[in-house]
Amino acid sequence: MFKGSAISVKMLDGGIAEMNFDLQGESVNKFNTQTVLELEEALGLLDAADDVKGLLLTSSKGVFLVGADITEFVPLFGKSDGGGVGSHLAKNHDNFNLLEDLDFPTCIAINGYAMGGGLELALACDFRIMSTAAKVGLPETKLGIIPGWGGTVRLPRVAGADTAIDWICSGKEQRPDVALKAGVVDGVVAPENLREAALAVLQDAIDGKMDYEARRDQKTEPLKLNETEAMMVFETSKAFVAGMAGPNYPAPIVAIECMQQAARKYRDDAIAIERAGFEKVASTSVAESLVGLFLSDQLIGKKAKGWEKKADKKVERAAVLGAGIMGGGIAYQSAYKGTPIKMKDINQAGLDLGLSEANKLLSKQVNRGRMTVEKMGQVLASIDPTLSYDNFDGVDIVVEAVVENPKVKHAVLADVEKHVTDDTVIASNTSTISITYLAEALERPENFCGMHFFNPVHAMPLVEVIRGEKTSDTAIARTVAYANAMGKKAIVVNDCPGFLVNRVLFPYFAGFMGLLKDGADFQQVDKVMERFGWPMGPAYLMDVVGMDTGHHAEAVMAEGFPDRMTKTYKTAGDVMFENDRYGQKNGKGFYVYELDKRGKPKKVVSQESYDLLAPETAELKEFDKDEIIARMMVPMATELARCLEEGIVGSASEADMALVYGVGFPPFRGGVFRWIDSIGIDKFVAMCDQYKHLGKLYEATDAMREMAANGTKYYT
Ligand code: NAD
Repeated sequence: MFKGSAISVKMLDGGIAEMNFDLQGESVNKFNTQTVLELEEALGLLDAADDVKGLLLTSSKGVFLVGADITEFVPLFGKSDGGGVGSHLAKNHDNFNLLEDLDFPTCIAINGYAMGGGLELALACDFRIMSTAAKVGLPETKLGIIPGWGGTVRLPRVAGADTAIDWICSGKEQRPDVALKAGVVDGVVAPENLREAALAVLQDAIDGKMDYEARRDQKTEPLKLNETEAMMVFETSKAFVAGMAGPNYPAPIVAIECMQQAARKYRDDAIAIERAGFEKVASTSVAESLVGLFLSDQLIGKKAKGWEKKADKKVERAAVLGAGIMGGGIAYQSAYKGTPIKMKDINQAGLDLGLSEANKLLSKQVNRGRMTVEKMGQVLASIDPTLSYDNFDGVDIVVEAVVENPKVKHAVLADVEKHVTDDTVIASNTSTISITYLAEALERPENFCGMHFFNPVHAMPLVEVIRGEKTSDTAIARTVAYANAMGKKAIVVNDCPGFLVNRVLFPYFAGFMGLLKDGADFQQVDKVMERFGWPMGPAYLMDVVGMDTGHHAEAVMAEGFPDRMTKTYKTAGDVMFENDRYGQKNGKGFYVYELDKRGKPKKVVSQESYDLLAPETAELKEFDKDEIIARMMVPMATELARCLEEGIVGSASEADMALVYGVGFPPFRGGVFRWIDSIGIDKFVAMCDQYKHLGKLYEATDAMREMAANGTKYYT
């Protein structure tokens, strides 16, 4: 009946037509322009046909449909009127309305992921049958936008306002059992029974045993809530969602407002409200940033998969040296994600600590009902604590996570190399020490690279995989494959002290030290930077990292980049370190830490810190917030630009993702390079010039000046 490159329609027995989605040349179905146009054409034919009694919608791919092709929207986001995004959306609105208004019943067989526009298509059908292997959801608010093809209209009418608010504002993917319970789908069946079940439902509707027209009425009429009920549902959830999302993420609230304003409207008016809401959020820089991050995330995922394909073997067994904070975390994460791991330390107390940490994390999962006790037992059993190198010849990778001391690391690396096979990859979790330098201890430096996790390992998504001068592609590929298996986001970077993330984090701390020296109050700086969007301000962050760790790393960084990272005065960090105020780990740093009711450290302001700092700093004074932001961000941004220009990192996207995933740089700003783009590189360079008296970290690079002169951006 119809054959396109994304959609085909054929007639089955009994007057049933089947519309099949199978976008040629792509691994997934999505609503790109081609699919939208073909849907229009195919529906036009079905609408005109007089021999069709029912329509079945299916997919030939593993996923049903992942939603809109977001790359087509990107040029429209961040523009004052949403870039005319409304008219871009209009055609598929017409399609879905036509689908909903056909003269015969429709049923969709959801075999795999139906996200965003995929679920909105399903909601426009009369009946939805879902495979146990499928997932559904409306993830748009995670991208700073709202559902744009009727999701805010049909979901509350199908499943109720509470479910719609929850699904749309969380953006989470939903399991089949949850979707069934919420009434979003009509049935859940095993994959092999899906087609048959969907056809049976359709036949019942054709035979008049199921009232498909009543379902249409429900979707096209106002919500069945009286005014008080509507007020209760929408107003209370607005307050709750605003608290969860925070002031920098407006999309979830806009979605609720759309649903609220449309509650008493019929379909077409309700859709017009949604479209206006979409235009509003699409015009924000938040949408532009979050969509940009989404695309960057896809890029790093693709690169990591590419490395995995090149790996000569899968990591079946791993080992970690050192059972401390990091070694214990690495062992847990490896075992939890299914790769058995040996955990070696030089003393039993270390091993006990590493195991008890793993135990604590697993117990939490069990207590929250996310894991069975049996599974917990299995995970623990796949961590093999040891004080010897016995059986190290059976591991595919060893991650070294002993103390951050080059001499100790050299000795440990040389030692472990004698106990593994010629092709075992050895990776160091060092935070700062050059991989090329550490490799000097090894007979087979080609098998060696960096594998830098972030603390706490189970929670932080990033792993920097670092290529030393002699590192082979084989070593990188196996290490990235292992990071993928551990559920981490791997970014491959070239070697230098501090690699990418710590190399730019220390200049940020240097900016902080300078501010304190000039009389800024660390609490004010924390507040301003938290308002800027950082999950914690720099004083709090230094307390979490640990003043001893920071102090040590600073020295490595200064040796690596003496022209701009050498200290020229006694810093607030030095004062803390010298007074044994190491931060959270010993209960006092800039702040002091008390345990709250749940046993978590809670920061409290300490006058003692101010007294200790006073002799080394100017008299306390209030700083302008823009000055604080500039003095904190410029050193980080110029150093990041140097990393990009020197090829330490492959692209602006990877650099931005590394900071979001490694240190929680505010996602709504899309990363440091996006932040520079958003203020304009000419303005950024002017900011550098304004503070150039503060030292070389405040100097814009020549390439940045050139970009400013040419009006170019990091993201085009
Ligand atoms: P830690 O002090 O908590 O643990 C180090 C462990 O190594 C101790 O249990 C110690 O007994 C053990 N050890 C010492 N010598 C050993 C040897 N010869 N063989 C086996 N084990 C030995 O340290 P940590 O914070 O886990 O840091 C470990 C590494 O990870 C360092 O290189 C550090 O820079 C890096 N790192 C730390 C963090 C962090 O935030 N803590 C983050 C990223 C990377």
